[in-house]
Amino acid sequence: MRVGPVPPWRPLAVVVRPTYAHIDLDAIQANFQAVVSHVGGRSGGVEVIAVVKANGYGHGAVPVARALEAAGARMLACADIEEGVELRRGGVRAPILVFGALSVSDLDGVFSYDLTPTISSPFAARALREEASRRGTRVRCHLKIDTGMNRLGFRYDNLAGTIPVALAGAGLEIDAVYTHFATAEDPAHPLFDQQRERFDEALARLSALGVRPRVRHASNSGALLRDPTTWFDAVRPGLLLYGVAPPEWAERLSLRPAMTLHSRVVAVKGMRVGETAGYGAREAVTRPTTIAIVPAGYADGLDVRLAGRGSVLVRGRRVPVVGSVCMDSITIDVTGLDVTPGDEVVLLGSQSGGVIGAGDVAAAIGTVPHEILCRTGSRIVRTYDGEPSPSASPATP
Ligand SMILES: *Cc1c(COP(=O)(O)O)cnc(C)c1O
Repeated sequence: MRVGPVPPWRPLAVVVRPTYAHIDLDAIQANFQAVVSHVGGRSGGVEVIAVVKANGYGHGAVPVARALEAAGARMLACADIEEGVELRRGGVRAPILVFGALSVSDLDGVFSYDLTPTISSPFAARALREEASRRGTRVRCHLKIDTGMNRLGFRYDNLAGTIPVALAGAGLEIDAVYTHFATAEDPAHPLFDQQRERFDEALARLSALGVRPRVRHASNSGALLRDPTTWFDAVRPGLLLYGVAPPEWAERLSLRPAMTLHSRVVAVKGMRVGETAGYGAREAVTRPTTIAIVPAGYADGLDVRLAGRGSVLVRGRRVPVVGSVCMDSITIDVTGLDVTPGDEVVLLGSQSGGVIGAGDVAAAIGTVPHEILCRTGSRIVRTYDGEPSPSASPATP
């Protein structure tokens, strides 16, 4: 479902390596719409702040942000000022919330590029206030409360001591107050409900201190699927927009993965019993084995722990990654399959009915799907909707 026209986007690369990612911007727009519907639509008053930090979770910040803007996102969020500047330079016009701590040196970007900073410490408040008054202007901010994550934010239990000093003067306009959950993906952890209660208390205390924000927000993807009482006035999904849900709550929303990762077999060979493949010479094979070499390695973002744990799709079958993950290649066990150089390999995505999702890869190595998406290597060319598929070009085995 395409909601609005996607502005044209062309990657700069002319030569496309056999290992490349394809990004389905339609899927990202549809996922955004799915979240909007889930939280009740705009008339229900819950806004969706679309998180595009870390290069749009590896999908490409600018094309993703522009697709989300075209789909109706009224606010985007990124990790730091530099990411915000990149979005503005790429033509994004929607308000951009910056999550991160602010340092003195790059505050200029907030003003020159019209970003919405987060005040998460007395230091940030002072620096912003001083810069605003130097420029004779006011700055609209979001205030962050730490309700138990112990990362950024003003401690929830000490607001009377910190907030009046931090917000003194006229330069800072607190448009929103937010917090962030530490255990949204863990159904059994009691901290989740405690954080919610602490956020409610903090909002009441702030109100007594004269801070009455227009918007309150708390939920990332996991929290918004887990508990509608954490929606407040806005939600902040990242992962869901890219078509991946935290496994605990995955059935609650139907999504389309936006990234597929492809490569091709470049060589096929036999191994005798007792031989090993790759660095470290671990795991001798116990039967005659056919392996295929795939030109994607840890420099492309593949985790070295995938050796012996991960799998890929080739000829419609799921086959294991064996040997070691090298910088530029992996070996896969294709014994019994009719695999030849040039065959397509799917590292993320589907092939002839088989599917490997970011969640599967994450589970195989004990991490979160966010990490799998974000680490997609910088040398991997992203192709987008409407781009000719590199797989149409001749194979170079
Ligand atoms: C990254 C991030 C999000 C989005 O998290 P997901 O789990 O990807 O939905 C939301 N809020 C903050 C403060 C974040 O840093």
